[in-house]
Amino acid sequence: MIAPLAVVQSEEEAAAAAIEKRPLERYVAPVKPSLVGLSRTALADALGTIGVPERQRRMRVQQIWHWLYVRGVQDFDAMTTLSKELRGSLAEHFTLARPEIVAEQTSVDGTRKWLLRLPGEFADQPHEVECVYIPETDRGTLCISSQVGCTLNCSFCHTGTQRLVRNLTPGEIVGQVVLERDRLNDWQRAAAPAGADPEKRLVSNVVMMGMGEPLYNFEAVRDGLAVVADGDGLSLSKRRITLSTSGVVPNIPRAGAEIGVMLAVSLHAVTDELRDELVPLNRKYPLRDLLDACRNYPGLSNARRITFEYVMLKGINDSLAEARALVRLLKGIPAKINLIPFNPWPGSKFECSDWAQIEKFSEIIFNAGYASPVRTPRGRDILAACGQLKSGTEKLSARERLALRAMAMTD
Ligand code: SAH
Ligand code: SF4
Repeated sequence: MIAPLAVVQSEEEAAAAAIEKRPLERYVAPVKPSLVGLSRTALADALGTIGVPERQRRMRVQQIWHWLYVRGVQDFDAMTTLSKELRGSLAEHFTLARPEIVAEQTSVDGTRKWLLRLPGEFADQPHEVECVYIPETDRGTLCISSQVGCTLNCSFCHTGTQRLVRNLTPGEIVGQVVLERDRLNDWQRAAAPAGADPEKRLVSNVVMMGMGEPLYNFEAVRDGLAVVADGDGLSLSKRRITLSTSGVVPNIPRAGAEIGVMLAVSLHAVTDELRDELVPLNRKYPLRDLLDACRNYPGLSNARRITFEYVMLKGINDSLAEARALVRLLKGIPAKINLIPFNPWPGSKFECSDWAQIEKFSEIIFNAGYASPVRTPRGRDILAACGQLKSGTEKLSARERLALRAMAMTD
């Protein structure tokens, strides 16, 4: 009899395992896959599998791309530039499915939240993620997710307490943007030639700040965002796409080189000691390495800054000395600072800083030359604010709500 192999784990491996969760499931592609979210190359390959001759593929990809991402069609029959035969063959082998919507909620401030059902490895156990549209006077932002659950375990984040189920596919990432256009009737606005329609499309910005750590799903995020930024399709400029990371240092230069979108870094603490507790990934990639990676992020300038996010936790990281240390720490990095009021969730051991403290903290940042917008927790009535995805919370008092609105600035 062969003895079972013992699983030997070094101390280092055990420590890493405590910081980074492994996915519980893998993605199982449906028998009839959706074409939404495929890269041009993958789309050409898909056409190859149904017998489209190689010499035609480039043109067909171009045509289908237009139908998918400029016209937003949901039915192969509407692709009238393709032969009837090809449309039939496409319909036989593929779909144009978007993520399934389980619930759609609209907040009093116009924030719209979609609860999406994504297939699980086991057919009877689907999963859910959220996608949120946040309207503002001069822009509309779509907040999208990158994982079901999260690889990491930040102590103030509700998602961090959940298991990592799996990474989203490029199709599921792109699908969130496509779905917004469907639901908010944004295709026509987006397709109108400049000047022809005074009403622009509702979503001008995309932020990857929903569920999950995007830099632990690097390839899918890279490939999905490339489709979102494609100028012949969904056409969101890379300058209007922001990827938020908790500091996966080795993937920051890669993100600069291969994705090229704006970067937001969840800093939350000015010392390693505290950051080790709030963002345990800091034990693996400490502040010095993180800030070096930020300093070297390609293309930084005053017009192209890194956003540093700082969640305001009462009595934990909100002293004025910490505000001053924050300013010193970021010296020399073209930066914006976003102070985020902590959103409590059931069982969380933190409280949001008092409003007066947030104001004082923000004043120090402001006096150091940073516009320091406090991120308004929009859509609280439908629980769509940052870090609150999938969780319940107390409502803000009317006074706090007003104060937050007044402080919210756009850059
Ligand atoms: N995983 C990525 C992106 C998703 S989280 C990241 O951590 O950057 C988006 C932002 O919400 C991050 O800055 C995160 O630190 C913050 N956040 C998480 N939980 C929060 C909470 N309960 N209250 C306020 N902000 C929170
Ligand atoms: Fe994951 Fe971001 Fe939450 Fe940390 S803050 S657990 S990285 S989603």
